[in-house]
Amino acid sequence: MGIQIDLDKCVGCGNCVPACPFGLLEIIDEKVQVKDGCNFCGACQEACDYEAVVIEAVNQVSVPSDSHRGVWVFAEQRHSQLKSVVYELVSKGRKLADTLETELCAVCLGHNINEVEQLIAYGADKVYLIDSPVLAHFHEDLYTRKLVELIQEYKPEIVVAGATPHGRSFIPRVAAMLRTGLTADCTGLEIDVETRLLLQTRPTFGGNIMATIICQAKRPQMATVRPRVFRKEAPSKGKKGQIIKMDLDSEGVTSSTKLLDFIEDITEAVKLEEADIIVSGGRGLGKAENFQLLEELANVLGAALGSSRPLVDDGWISYPHQVGQTGKTVCPKLYIACGISGAVQHLAGMQTSDNIVAINNDPNAPIFEVATYGIVGDLFQIVPMLIEKLKNG
Ligand SMILES: Cc1cc2nc3c(=O)[nH]c(=O)nc-3n(C[C@H](O)[C@H](O)[C@H](O)COP(=O)(O)OP(=O)(O)OC[C@H]3O[C@@H](n4cnc5c(N)ncnc54)[C@H](O)[C@@H]3O)c2cc1C
Repeated sequence: MGIQIDLDKCVGCGNCVPACPFGLLEIIDEKVQVKDGCNFCGACQEACDYEAVVIEAVNQVSVPSDSHRGVWVFAEQRHSQLKSVVYELVSKGRKLADTLETELCAVCLGHNINEVEQLIAYGADKVYLIDSPVLAHFHEDLYTRKLVELIQEYKPEIVVAGATPHGRSFIPRVAAMLRTGLTADCTGLEIDVETRLLLQTRPTFGGNIMATIICQAKRPQMATVRPRVFRKEAPSKGKKGQIIKMDLDSEGVTSSTKLLDFIEDITEAVKLEEADIIVSGGRGLGKAENFQLLEELANVLGAALGSSRPLVDDGWISYPHQVGQTGKTVCPKLYIACGISGAVQHLAGMQTSDNIVAINNDPNAPIFEVATYGIVGDLFQIVPMLIEKLKNG
């Protein structure tokens, strides 16, 4: 986009000046002038009665085509352990890098991080590692500064990170400092081979449509992805790669925050994302007490307990159990949906499960469209039969 002032048409009336929400316009010598920072919102154009303000799309991509190369994955760790989403992103990143015929790099900030070499086995060609006690704990400002510095130095064309609490808090800052775009919570990443653009797909308008977003004019192209959206592929033992240890330039390395203590969130005892089997309940359960039936089935199967959103909203079960667009994204080997209709927002969180068993008394329930096995019937009859069978063989 670009903004132009037609000086022949501008009469210096100043109508546009208060219209700019960012205060970027001023009248100098009876003509309007625009300061840096315009985001082309169009407010001044609307305020101008003389058609002197012209905002137009600039077709040309302002990035030289070979100025940035490589796909980067931010390899997040907590307590020195790499997060599982990192392996999922490295697996996906490998495919993106292969399509672009470029290298895949992981960037790791922390202290005494375990299994860094695993990143290579999962597909990275290089790992940039900054190991320092200063980075042992997550500090938003420090991590932002370091990642920005690395990106500015090595100029990757794509940077992806997990949409985890850490990723969500500092990756937008990184994008803002680099003045590039960021697509949060992507559910699909592909490459347009002709343009080398990253096609970043994510649900929008309450999950009712999927939008594919591109970042045409800025580099790097940045995206965050929730855990369990992509599959972690098998590691390759013979894969060769480089771990590049970098020193932390300790000068001026201070954070405005200080970690006083770490207290584990006991409400997060439900590790839904890591469960192999999930038994999930929906409004078909009728009332909160009926969750006991699903708890019994979950116990017999060694499964975690999931839920659709209305049950969480009504206080039948706590939020960490919620599956879906505004809850967890899960990908277990087996997902048993009991009395869940299969709204798009629920499907967004579980439809990549290996096997889905749906129990619903409405044969037209949309959940059956994604189910591997569907049981049409009353869950209050079917679930006790399942429990009985599983207990007694
Ligand atoms: C912005 C936004 C975000 C959202 N995020 C989420 C989210 O993260 N997760 C989520 O789940 N929802 C989310 N929702 C809500 C979503 O749109 C649906 O309203 C919700 O998923 C429906 O929950 P449900 O399937 O339990 O209930 P319902 O749609 O009411 O379905 C109940 C089902 O139970 C069946 N049933 C009834 N009795 C029985 C029985 N005895 N035996 C068997 N089957 C029976 C019915 O046939 C029906 O299909 C979101 C909505 C919005 C607008």
